Amino acid sequence: MSTPHVQRMSRLMAKTLREDPADAETLSHRLLVRAGYVRRSSAGVWTWLPLGKRVLDNVSRVVREEMDAIGAQEVLLPALLPKEPYEVSGRWSEYGDLLFRLRDRKGADYLLGPTHEEIFTLVVKDQCTSYKDLPVMLYQIQTKYRDEARPRSGVLRGREFQMKDSYSFDVSDEGLAQSYALHRAAYQRIFTRLGLDHRIVSAVSGAMGGSASEEFLAPAEAGEDTFADCPSCDYAANTEAVTFALTPAAGDHGPVEELDTPDTPTIESLAALLGVPASATLKNLLVKVDGEIVAVGVPGDREVDLGKLGEHLAPAVVELVTAEDFEGRPDLVRGYVGPQGLDKVRYLADPRVAPGTAWVTGANKADAHARNVVCGRDFEVDRYLDVVVVEPGDPCPSCGAGLRLDRAIEIGHIFQLGRKYADAFGLDVLGKEGKPVRVTMGSYGIGVSRAVAALAEQTADERGLSWPAAVAPADVHVVAAGKAVPLALAEQAASALSEAGLRVLLDDRPGLSPGVKLTDAELIGVPWILVAGRRSADGVVELQHRATGHREELALPEALTRLT
Ligand code: ATP
Ligand code: MG
Ligand code: MG
Ligand code: MG
Repeated sequence: MSTPHVQRMSRLMAKTLREDPADAETLSHRLLVRAGYVRRSSAGVWTWLPLGKRVLDNVSRVVREEMDAIGAQEVLLPALLPKEPYEVSGRWSEYGDLLFRLRDRKGADYLLGPTHEEIFTLVVKDQCTSYKDLPVMLYQIQTKYRDEARPRSGVLRGREFQMKDSYSFDVSDEGLAQSYALHRAAYQRIFTRLGLDHRIVSAVSGAMGGSASEEFLAPAEAGEDTFADCPSCDYAANTEAVTFALTPAAGDHGPVEELDTPDTPTIESLAALLGVPASATLKNLLVKVDGEIVAVGVPGDREVDLGKLGEHLAPAVVELVTAEDFEGRPDLVRGYVGPQGLDKVRYLADPRVAPGTAWVTGANKADAHARNVVCGRDFEVDRYLDVVVVEPGDPCPSCGAGLRLDRAIEIGHIFQLGRKYADAFGLDVLGKEGKPVRVTMGSYGIGVSRAVAALAEQTADERGLSWPAAVAPADVHVVAAGKAVPLALAEQAASALSEAGLRVLLDDRPGLSPGVKLTDAELIGVPWILVAGRRSADGVVELQHRATGHREELALPEALTRLT
């Protein structure tokens, strides 16, 4: 904001469009394309044009300032990564189709990083040898790659996207809790400064192997997450996590809800039982195949449809697992069906499984399975329900009031990872007593490019985008609504504003009607629009506040005073 700057629309490389892009499903997608902020390069891969790049940079700047403020140090790791560390962690295979994989000329396997726990662990292993080197918090703002099954909604879910990811390294659990708390508070400041309406909800870390995890959700219809929200107390949880909360307290072993298994189960009867169409897609399902309980799950973001599953398993007999199957089988897990039916099937681990028992379970995290679930550490469940469908009006686990279900966009996610990666890579430092101490970690992500779309979703109206001041591509949009005198007055306003340190967008395009320019200004969504039009000869301009639509005619000096 220190360098005075006037961006002339006559020179701006961005064309506004009158028509919505044909494939656009959401408001942010439509408007960011129409207003000339982004252009699609290929599915889920986007080019940021000048206005969009400014908003993206503004978001990054706020994120960077708050990360620096908690003492995190910025680094930049490669996006092109060797396979080996991801083999050590198991994620080379666990990620499945979500991973972009490639091979170099010598035949070595690489991937494009979807997230960097492995690599940060190695960096710290290389750099830190003593407890005196810790705690340390590192972050980067970097391009991530995930071959999402359904890239959609423009930059909301890209296959290439910008993420701020940070990682904390501590010698003690208390240290980790502190690093986590620092990040949590920084995230609250970041989203507040950005002007994003957000909620913190408990999430379940599941496959990440951690003990605490929270998501930052931006309520919006376009969101792909559903969260349960209590109107009477401050309880809020991702529906993926609600199951835990609904679990009765220790000692209460009331009747387990049972589903009737049809005599001759088929895919159709199974679907009928679950109340979903036989063509439903599913990510995970716990069923019996020829009498053996198996978790039918697919890695990554792939989905299989129920019909295909039938083909795949035929002629095996597929049965739904019922409560009886769990009697005397403490090694087993149970299914959880979320509000979208099969689309949200998750598992819970039985807490009675002996620690260290190797059991592959569906994890209570989207698209993941967990190995070697350690009960009591990974899951705090004293009893599991058979099938839980969270519906609006279900009792709040904390106060009993009826829960609401709302849609939201996941804009951030914080995890206490614990020692999962440190164990995998043998990350120790020399402790106070001269003995090696295993390091404990946290990982923390913000969807920087997604935040731009989330902001657009929350603030846009039928006329176009409407940015909060902190992220807007300019502070004032000056419109020359006419040639000669209006143009001269607009030029005068623009230079005065930029002299005062404001970022100015000046619509000096010749040959366009005032109406077209105003429509464009509203579409572009800079917080203030200053129009030099009919009354320019008297030195009078119109000042419009984009968000409220409030307009006022003022003498130019007065308008400038208002803005500076
Ligand atoms: P989602 O549930 O939306 O797929 P995720 O849980 O897989 O997200 P994380 O692994 O928690 O994502 O990554 C940290 C953050 O990165 C997310 O909170 C989100 O804001 C952002 N993010 C994840 N995937 C994408 C994507 N495909 N496009 C844009 N941003 C993304
Ligand atoms: Mg994902
Ligand atoms: Mg998620
Ligand atoms: Mg997440």
